[in-house]
Amino acid sequence: MRSRIGGAAALLAACVSALAGAGCAANENGYAARRAAMAANQIAARGVRDERVLAAMAKVPRHRFVPPELRGEAYADRPLPIGFGQTISQPYIVALMTESLGPAARGKVLEIGTGSGYQAAVLAEIADSVYSIEILPELAERARALLDSLGVRNVRVRAGDGYFGWPEEAPFDAVIVTAAAPRLPEPLVEQLRSGGRIVIPVGGAYQELELHEKTESGTKLVSRVPVRFVPMKGKIRE
Ligand code: SAH
Repeated sequence: MRSRIGGAAALLAACVSALAGAGCAANENGYAARRAAMAANQIAARGVRDERVLAAMAKVPRHRFVPPELRGEAYADRPLPIGFGQTISQPYIVALMTESLGPAARGKVLEIGTGSGYQAAVLAEIADSVYSIEILPELAERARALLDSLGVRNVRVRAGDGYFGWPEEAPFDAVIVTAAAPRLPEPLVEQLRSGGRIVIPVGGAYQELELHEKTESGTKLVSRVPVRFVPMKGKIRE
């Protein structure tokens, strides 16, 4: 116990003397080590192989996307609350969804449910551009400010009901929905290019993460995995 307190005090002293505030180097190194462990033990160990996804997970500072009092848990193997009754997804699920998009993730990607902005930041490492829609204006604003402060330049965030997509920017190579819907929102399928992919949790309290590929004649279900997400709100419920 004693040495732990001593260690924390020494770390604090190092941070204060470096005058680096919240971004103090010693802290950031500690987070980087936890992030590398997360990528190896939670993500690669469960079968995610895409090098770009693993590199993005090892790079994006997840602790900046969680409330300050939960930073110590930012690299734990679970979702965390982000306020407004919403959550940041478990790291493995973020990686799995990103990988499932395949090469489509390298192009123009639409995300529904910005939340903390973390999934958008991970996508931004791989995609040319990311368009992300959040129904709660406070979360949209907070995510936009955070992504700006982190120097993420290829993500655009807007407040609104993601059901309607972002028609001015369509077609998209990939669509990622991070809130659970009872069915595929038709406008999102329409805004996908042929051969593009959409990943979305479909169901009620329990859902299947469905991956669909758009074909000339409609969509083709590629895979399904059980998951739990917060519900999608708005038009899809009418
Ligand atoms: N991708 C987020 C986690 C999403 S939690 C992250 O990385 O942190 C789901 C988010 O979807 C919540 O913020 C919720 O407000 C939002 N949401 C729910 N219904 C929506 C809708 N119809 N359009 C856009 N966002 C929606």
